[in-house]
Amino acid sequence: MSSLKEILSFNDSFVTDKKYEPFITTKYPDKRIVILSCMDTRLVELLPKAMNLRNGDVKIVKSAGAIVNHPFGGIMRSLLVAVYELKADEIYIVGHYDCGMSAIDPDQMLGHMVERGVKQEIIDIISYSRVDLKEWLRGFGDVTTSVMKSVDLVRSHPLMPKGIPVHGLVIDPSTGRLDLVTDGNTVISK
Ligand code: ZN
Repeated sequence: MSSLKEILSFNDSFVTDKKYEPFITTKYPDKRIVILSCMDTRLVELLPKAMNLRNGDVKIVKSAGAIVNHPFGGIMRSLLVAVYELKADEIYIVGHYDCGMSAIDPDQMLGHMVERGVKQEIIDIISYSRVDLKEWLRGFGDVTTSVMKSVDLVRSHPLMPKGIPVHGLVIDPSTGRLDLVTDGNTVISK
């Protein structure tokens, strides 16, 4: 059975048996928080549990590596929408140790694309149109530095209202322990 069939069949009974009832809430985050974290599988349930978050408490935005790599990309837009339109007034950027994104080698990934049928000419054309593919695909060396970089980008974003604390943390994907990288409140009060 493909995962799609499995999911649709499970979903049928989920809805019929009203298993959604414990999750009913609103689109506004009760704790007025938006979190940017990594898409890592180990964090799917662990991160909310380790931060004591339930359905309805927060907005969660995810990207590979919890990275904000473009000031006018989709991740930054999501954070701005959460703040301006969805009542979030605190931002948490939560990277994690042993992140798959730290091991990404852009050359190797471009090679994998060619192996999977993407023509080298296509890669060349994209590169010629001034897209730095290697920079775009690049991971990071140290997660703490990467979190700090994303925090700085969000804090200093020209469209981010003043007074929004942006916190940086790193979570252990096995134990859920959080290490503080930067407390946004101390920056705000300066
Ligand atoms: Zn990760």
